[in-house]
Amino acid sequence: KRLNVDLGDRSYPILIGEGILSRMPEFLAERGIKTVNKLLIVTDDTVAGYHLAPLQEILTQAGYSAAVHTVPAGEQSKTLEQFEEVITSALKAGLDRHSVIIALGGGVVGDLAGFAAASFMRGIRFVQVPTTILAHDSSVGGKVAVNHRFAKNIIGAFHQPELVLFDTALLKTLPQREIRAGLAEVIKEGLIWDADFVAWCEEHADALLALSPEETAYALYNGCHVKAQVVSQDEREQSLRAILNLGHTIGHALEAVAQYQQLLHGEAISIGMVGSAKLAVRLGYDPEIYTTTKRILQKFGLPVRIPHDYSTEQILQAMMHDKKFRDGKMVFVVPVAIGKTEIRDDIEASWIKEIIDELKQEA
Ligand code: NAD
Ligand code: ZN
Repeated sequence: KRLNVDLGDRSYPILIGEGILSRMPEFLAERGIKTVNKLLIVTDDTVAGYHLAPLQEILTQAGYSAAVHTVPAGEQSKTLEQFEEVITSALKAGLDRHSVIIALGGGVVGDLAGFAAASFMRGIRFVQVPTTILAHDSSVGGKVAVNHRFAKNIIGAFHQPELVLFDTALLKTLPQREIRAGLAEVIKEGLIWDADFVAWCEEHADALLALSPEETAYALYNGCHVKAQVVSQDEREQSLRAILNLGHTIGHALEAVAQYQQLLHGEAISIGMVGSAKLAVRLGYDPEIYTTTKRILQKFGLPVRIPHDYSTEQILQAMMHDKKFRDGKMVFVVPVAIGKTEIRDDIEASWIKEIIDELKQEA
């Protein structure tokens, strides 16, 4: 499957399919990346253990020379220190303006390697080989960043990749929990934009959880497609992009309260999406928004309840840090139907408190 992300002269293709990694040399050539161009693969130590050697083999066979920079797996590698280490590797490997950084990994590696590519010599080319389902999200939109100890993704840039190569075979080594959590973000793309896709996801839940190649490729394609549509329309229509944050206001707060330990991002937004659906019903929209949202997420084995030991006070506090408050009213992404979303800026903070309390009682 091929999706073109349309951005004028910064347009690029996302190629999705089982075993597609073996065709990398062909796609590099298509994008004007030649064997004289030095490559630096950035990856993490977990992903490297499974997928680095095959990628190196494919590149070497085709005559490319690729250096490697490996970081420890996990969010703690999205730092300025690690960024500097990547640049050190780039210099040691003799990269120049014509060189290319290849991100082999999930969103962490993509964000770190992408930020390095955006900055090295004021910007060199960048190729993404996502290895998580969640990374479909980072493959569209061009956002690259590292964290500061006070704030996530606060040091960053916009830097579009040359090419995204999404080989569904690489997902087979993902832990089941990461698969579910990544699918939460895919379901979100449906909930904000495409009711048919939501129905399709529900119908194909088992195939998706088992990573069946056809269904997985279709789901990733659709996830990227929705995000690409939203992002490209946002260039004209400011603020549309905010709908991508469905479930994220509550989700981010839960992640913060869990100190980014107990809950994966996808799990947190799963609970957050149920909260947004509850809010929709309270605002008078169809109760089915809530029942459908919850049913689908549960079918994917995702959490829909806030653990009892999370303090409502702390969750609300964390939300206030999340900048979406304006004099007692909150800005909230509300699903007004399955597949349709609106931004409301008139949500009473007291309602959110009640919804959080209710979310602790969800069955
Ligand atoms: P991740 O990159 O940390 O991957 C999750 C875990 O899975 C890691 O431990 C990793 O080593 C492991 N892993 C990755 N691929 C694997 C594979 N194929 N087999 C076995 N293990 C594998 O995190 P993620 O969930 O992919 O992404 C989260 C990050 O993405 C966050 O930092 C978030 O800020 C960022 N993000 C960025 C954007 C954007 O637009 N730039 C969008 C969404 C998320
Ligand atoms: Zn998200």
